[in-house]
Amino acid sequence: MYRTNTCGELTMKNVGQQVTLCGWLQRSRDLGGMTFVDLRDRYGITQLAFNMDTNPALCEQARRLGREYVIQATGTVIERASKNSKIPTGDIEIEVSQLTVLNESKTPPFTIEDNSDGGDDIRMKYRYLDIRRSPVRRNLELRHRMAMLVRNYLSNLDFLEIETPMLIKSTPEGARDFVVPSRMNPGEFYALPQSPQQYKQLLMVAGMDRYFQIVRCFRDEDLRADRQPEFTQIDCEMSFVHQEDILNTFEGLAKHLFHELKGLDFTQFPRITWHDAMRLYGSDKPDIRFGMRFVELNVVAKGAGFALFDNAELVVGINAEGCAEYTRKQLDALTDFVKKPQVGAGGLVYIKYNTDGTFKSSVDKFFSQDSLQLFAQQFNAHPGDLMLILCGPAMKTRVQLSALRLEMASRLGLRNPDVYAPLWVVDFPLLEWDEETQRYYAMHHPFTAPKPEDESFLDDPSRWGDIRANAYDIVINGVEVGGGSIRIHDRTLQNKMFHTLGFTDQSAAAQFGFLMDAFTYGAPPHAGLAFGFDRLCSLFGGADSIRDFIAFPKNNSGRDVMSGSPAPISQEQLDELHIALTPQN
Ligand code: ASP
Repeated sequence: MYRTNTCGELTMKNVGQQVTLCGWLQRSRDLGGMTFVDLRDRYGITQLAFNMDTNPALCEQARRLGREYVIQATGTVIERASKNSKIPTGDIEIEVSQLTVLNESKTPPFTIEDNSDGGDDIRMKYRYLDIRRSPVRRNLELRHRMAMLVRNYLSNLDFLEIETPMLIKSTPEGARDFVVPSRMNPGEFYALPQSPQQYKQLLMVAGMDRYFQIVRCFRDEDLRADRQPEFTQIDCEMSFVHQEDILNTFEGLAKHLFHELKGLDFTQFPRITWHDAMRLYGSDKPDIRFGMRFVELNVVAKGAGFALFDNAELVVGINAEGCAEYTRKQLDALTDFVKKPQVGAGGLVYIKYNTDGTFKSSVDKFFSQDSLQLFAQQFNAHPGDLMLILCGPAMKTRVQLSALRLEMASRLGLRNPDVYAPLWVVDFPLLEWDEETQRYYAMHHPFTAPKPEDESFLDDPSRWGDIRANAYDIVINGVEVGGGSIRIHDRTLQNKMFHTLGFTDQSAAAQFGFLMDAFTYGAPPHAGLAFGFDRLCSLFGGADSIRDFIAFPKNNSGRDVMSGSPAPISQEQLDELHIALTPQN
């Protein structure tokens, strides 16, 4: 037997037992008469003790072991003299009688301990060593546990996990496809799925009325922070359901995860329309762990001769409670923040509501104390508060204020990762105008159904921007963790939608013909959604980065620095694939 126990389980109960453990040497301490070794495996750390007096040869052997050597040790469990209350095995140690080196190790390039001395890059290059560290290991354990909870929960609700192909024809989710050349079909390419969207809809036509899949998806996007070119979704679809059924089913799943993993129980998740989310938070994924809702100020701000306000489409602000004492320096820092190119505001107006009831603002020249009082009333502000105001084109300004709202919340410590505030954002716009290409795109994807009451607007291009979709996102702590929609199951409406999006009959048929054909054979009403599984894991793990929850992630330029991919391929392979590279200079 290689081992009788793991390194994480022996306690005072086991004292006196003869055991054999295997693992990696995390650290050793040579105290002259005694040598101690911390032996680590996936389950924990157990101390091995070697006594110079009773077994000098073995002790000598132990002293020669290097870090990360793989060893097997047999001995007796004994009570420790100096206990370590920080680890479960801290009351005992193994008095070793036999030691075998199973494999040696080069000195690792960073310390494999909870707080490693290795930077991000080196840890990614040697990710297999990084995973030996318990914080990373714990993240992967959490991910596994979540996958099991999801599978069981959905399976109990009669969902079937069905695999869909990876080599497919393009599915539009708004990103570029990764493509795979076909050797057998020269000049033709598969796409890797951006999502299984069309296949899951076909499964509904096929009568598999509750589908899910924990599935890898691929999107060739410019990598913004915390995106991965390949990522995992919990992809779901249901037939014969209304939006209400979908929201309830998947809210149920989210609640189940909160209950099992965090011991938290929620009543109904709040719901907010996209329109209100933008108006009150300037974001379609509002962080509602805290208030600081937007207050619109046009009525009190305009007409005082302050040109910036007078000419702005919208004057809007937030009230930072208790921040009237902010210093010049702190206010300057906030101004610098909103002026950063990533935020893009022209400037920041502040009004301090001093504790003595007077006001001090950056626009005192234009507004009397009485006028500032009117602002305070709009904000429902109290003495001691600080009102922060932006102005400009409505949507742009809201988005800028949203950044300031989050910044203020961070400064005020209101974004506690242990507090969870989930909500649904519903009634997304169906279409989104793109300035660059001067046309509308599907905000979610082209299979999303308009709200029946807005459907007639499809006939009037001037109203396209007003069409609301039966589309919804689930948001937790300002992070979009999932989204979906009611699908169009009617061929005529789907065709109309394709035309709206600029497809001709031919181009729609070439791209989506198979789905459209399927819809002529009795497509049931259906709807679904997908959770971003990596993101959900990072949220439950209380970390910001999804990379920490992926065993072998890519870096910010989409590279796997460990294996060195992407990489060139041989001329022979290129020839076989009928690919001629154009020289790059
Ligand atoms: N396929 C969609 C996505 O990846 C989710 C859905 O509509 O079900 O965002």
